[in-house]
This record gives sequence, C-alpha cells and structure tokens, in this order.
Amino acid sequence: MTVHIHPSVDSGVKKGSGSFAGGTLVCKCKDKQVKVGIKGDVAHNHACGCTKCWKPDGAIFSVVAVVPRDNVTVLENGDKLQVIDASATIQRHACKGCGTHMYGRIENKAHPFYGLDFIHPELFQETGSAAPGFAAFVSSVIESGVDPAEMDGIRSRLKELGLEPYDCLSPALMDAIATHVAKAKAKAA
Ligand SMILES: [Zn+2]
Ligand SMILES: [Zn+2]
Repeated sequence: MTVHIHPSVDSGVKKGSGSFAGGTLVCKCKDKQVKVGIKGDVAHNHACGCTKCWKPDGAIFSVVAVVPRDNVTVLENGDKLQVIDASATIQRHACKGCGTHMYGRIENKAHPFYGLDFIHPELFQETGSAAPGFAAFVSSVIESGVDPAEMDGIRSRLKELGLEPYDCLSPALMDAIATHVAKAKAKAA
C-alpha cells in the first residue's frame, strides 16, 4: 500500500538551499493569478494534518510554514483574495477563483504567533525554500475522513520521510507557546 502524504514530499523531502532569498507565491488560476511576494526564507515548515489548512487535490496533509508578516506583500490581483473565516484565529486569505490559500494572518496581538504569517511553500514559483521538518496534528487527518486503521501506515511513512509525527505541534513550537503564556501570566500578576 502506498501512503500519499503530500505531492511535494511523496517522492522524498527536498532539502532547502539554505540561502533562499524569497520568492513569489502563485495561485492555481489559469489567468489573473494572485501573486504574493515573500522576502527571505520560511521557518518551521511542516506537514499539517489539521482540517483548516489548505491542501492540494488528493493530499491528506498540507505543507505549511511561517514568515514574518512584514515580509509578505500582495503583488498582483489582490482583489481576488477573500478571508475564508473572519472569526478564525488564523485569517486565511484565499483566492476566490481557485480556492488556494495564499497566506494566513493572525490579527490578535496577544496570540503567541502574532507577527507570523502562514504560507504554503509549494506555491513558490522558485525552488530552494527550507524543507518541511516534522508533521503536526497527525491524528486530525481522521477528522478529514482518513480511516483510523491507516494511521500506523501514515505515521511510519512520515517517519521514513524524516517528518517526525506529532499530534499537536512540535515540542519546539509547544515550548514557544508555553513560554509566551508564562510571560503573559507573569506580566498580569
Ligand atoms: Zn486563484
Ligand atoms: Zn494545519
């Protein structure tokens, strides 16, 4: 049985160049594509199994990374962007034409990840951005319709690809969130 995770990793995770200077994210429309410019490389790139992240057709995981929000600029056809769910913590700006999520932004200044935008590096027209390093919210793929019996195979395949599977975020990101919460509590005390 072949386990498909995401088209950009199914034939092996491609290493980043280590010197990616940024590039342009392009939506999937045939014409009047939405283009979003990104300065610099991405961070915390990972496969995500949550039900909210945008995935290409047939993929059970998304591949998503963060960049500082100041490094994100809508270059072309921004009038085609709409926020999928204004009440969500991450406001996902998607193309009305093809549904591709171009960037997700947190507007709550108290949120641990405020200041970071979420993007899908597979949309870069350039190659060489930092590779995914782990898999988050792995158990959540069951909520998207994956048979629970397939989970062993999915976790094995993720490990084989070097994408350590976690059922929430990676320990580094969970620590970052807890540090933010601890500091906020100390300030409030
Ligand atoms: Zn589009
Ligand atoms: Zn996600």
